[in-house]
Amino acid sequence: MMATSSSAATHVGRRDNNEDNYLADGRLGLFLVADGVGGHEGGEVASALAVESLQRDLTPEGDAPREAQVLRRAIQRASAAIHEAREGALVQMGSTLTALWLLRDRALIGHIGDSRLYRLRDGQLECLTRDHSLVAELQAQGVPVGDAGPMAHILTRALGSERCDPDVELAHLAPGDCFLLCSDGLYEALDEARIVEVLQSWPVELAAEELVQLAYDAGSSDNITGVVVRIP
Ligand code: MG
Repeated sequence: MMATSSSAATHVGRRDNNEDNYLADGRLGLFLVADGVGGHEGGEVASALAVESLQRDLTPEGDAPREAQVLRRAIQRASAAIHEAREGALVQMGSTLTALWLLRDRALIGHIGDSRLYRLRDGQLECLTRDHSLVAELQAQGVPVGDAGPMAHILTRALGSERCDPDVELAHLAPGDCFLLCSDGLYEALDEARIVEVLQSWPVELAAEELVQLAYDAGSSDNITGVVVRIP
């Protein structure tokens, strides 16, 4: 595992509970954002289960590309753990999960739900994940959705369902790549130019806190979470 610098921050925002969870573990090379759904308590429990399960299952000796299968199974185990804990007040709980797992010279991306992973390379910001939301899937089919209102947040895939089908992809790393993992409370409040500006001008150790604060100041009504990772 290479020596990376990273930072992470979360903010309850204008809500009563923070249902987001994250991990920034440089030793494992593992960076996660999970955004829980399904009622206050359920959302918090589900996103915490997701993060704990992956941190336990993934070891720092990861070696691509065999590890794609390891990551897929770890995400499916996290989903099963949430599914099994669904009862009583927790019966509807689920979670998004976006994972960046750094291996020797490459990275694996694991993703389900509508949290996102962005990469800044040579001044260009690119979103490397595809939202698993009703709106995103209609848009991908060319269906005009306009203002989707409350429909905008319906997930088509998430952890906690019986069958879990995450996207898992191998990505090449370049020196100086900067990654941002974030929940929708962050990316919906900030335009991409603002994100680029912060990633370029702030030290990585402070960038996550700055992005979360900017999203809050911009009026985000959701929990806000960001994890920033820079490849040396
Ligand atoms: Mg959210």
